[in-house]
Amino acid sequence: MSYYALNYSMRKKYEELLKLYKESLIVEEIAMLLYWDKDVTMPSGGLKQRAEQMAFIAELEHKKKINPRKGELLQQILEHPDYENLSDLEKRNVFLIQREYNKLVKVPPDFVGEFQKYCVLATEAWEKAKEKSDFTIFLPKLEKMIEYNKKYAQFLNPDADPYEVLLDYFESGMTIEKCDQIFNPLKKASIPLIEKCLSSTTKLDMSILNRSCPLDIQKKVNFDVLELIEFDLERGRLDEYVHPFTTGNYDDVRITTQYFEKDILSALLSIMHEGGHGSYEQNVGKNSHYQPVGMYCSEGMHEGIARFYENFIGRSPEFWKSYLKRFKELTENIFADVSLDNLVLAVNNVEHSAVRTEADELTYNLHIILRYELERDLLNGKIEAKNLPQIWNRKTKELIGYEVKNDAEGVLQDIHWSCELMGYFPNYTLGNIFGAQLYAKFKKDTPNWQKELERGNLNIIIDWLKENVLEKGNLFDPFELVKEVTEEEVSSKYLIDYHKEKFSKIYDLN
Ligand SMILES: [Zn+2]
Repeated sequence: MSYYALNYSMRKKYEELLKLYKESLIVEEIAMLLYWDKDVTMPSGGLKQRAEQMAFIAELEHKKKINPRKGELLQQILEHPDYENLSDLEKRNVFLIQREYNKLVKVPPDFVGEFQKYCVLATEAWEKAKEKSDFTIFLPKLEKMIEYNKKYAQFLNPDADPYEVLLDYFESGMTIEKCDQIFNPLKKASIPLIEKCLSSTTKLDMSILNRSCPLDIQKKVNFDVLELIEFDLERGRLDEYVHPFTTGNYDDVRITTQYFEKDILSALLSIMHEGGHGSYEQNVGKNSHYQPVGMYCSEGMHEGIARFYENFIGRSPEFWKSYLKRFKELTENIFADVSLDNLVLAVNNVEHSAVRTEADELTYNLHIILRYELERDLLNGKIEAKNLPQIWNRKTKELIGYEVKNDAEGVLQDIHWSCELMGYFPNYTLGNIFGAQLYAKFKKDTPNWQKELERGNLNIIIDWLKENVLEKGNLFDPFELVKEVTEEEVSSKYLIDYHKEKFSKIYDLN
């Protein structure tokens, strides 16, 4: 009966491995709650105390993740004669735990701590520099951050291009070649399309949407929209914070937004975005919670789903055709005279924008491509940090057509280079590309999609997303998932076609 004995020992090891995984995820959940509470409800005097709690939990989480017992179990399972008898899903779980474990044990814990501490200093310098609009305040810290990023990459893979290592760190399977392959055609197509929109005679008086709208009315609209996109408020909540974000998972998902009295669309679209992130977490890997396959697929896919809700739904003429009447009712007729055409134009207003987070759907990707090209060249030494403002301004003019006025609205606008690893930015546009390819497949699968969306049936698109992406959790790496669902390799073609079709109609081009 040795076969059963072996099988039993294999089962035991596998279960112990999953138990260790679950422990580290629970610690991560606690960390997320501390983080949410710090931003949303904590009294400001509690900051120092909270910083200690957060550092303690972060260290505990890291320890749980690199628990040497995990390493032993992984080795025993992979070398076990019954390894082949594990199901595909179980093998995927083992693979995902191994991938995370290998990544984390390669980086010495004291380096992680040193890097973390330096991030705090760099962020502080970035804040000061941005406030004074003076890049030279941030420069020495940025130079050091570039060194830390290179070192980090070297620990992970000393033989590869450091930027490529970091790209793969955030999005499995991402390479410089892949980025170039999918970003370059997008860049080439976007620049002339933006110019065409800007020279179109179809113009909008934006002031109609900057009418004052009390916050309690805006909140009513936002909760209504959350219900429409099926964000479950019994398993989630909405609060206010200056930078909209989403945190939590499964049955406790928290989103935040910021309200502006004279810009109702800002909160509404950010609700759609964060609601998309939130729905992903509420529906992810339905039957495999607390297993690696029951987690989201990747950072890029998460962003892709959020931008799917925000753009493909929230900025679509179809959605507004069905929602405008209710929007007017809920806003107590403040916007009674706004026409459907004007509203669609307002949510799709194309302009030469300075700031990424405020950019329209078309220009947004150029902001990302600019950052991608700069961080790639910074890490491989093609450009030097001290020349960054000049290069940033020149490239902004070339790509986006905007004349940068100062460092604050230029090179200092994003926090990323002071606190996160470089290589994260491409995920935002990658998410748009994933989303557009999925959206095209949804339309192909659903011949009556337009009619259904125009009559307010959002279930048709949300159910499709749940079945094809959200519930699949982390069964596939992102590029494989898109291929599995759409039966094609990832390409920017779908995003380019979508832009062309949508903006030609709205701006009456040709
Ligand atoms: Zn997001």
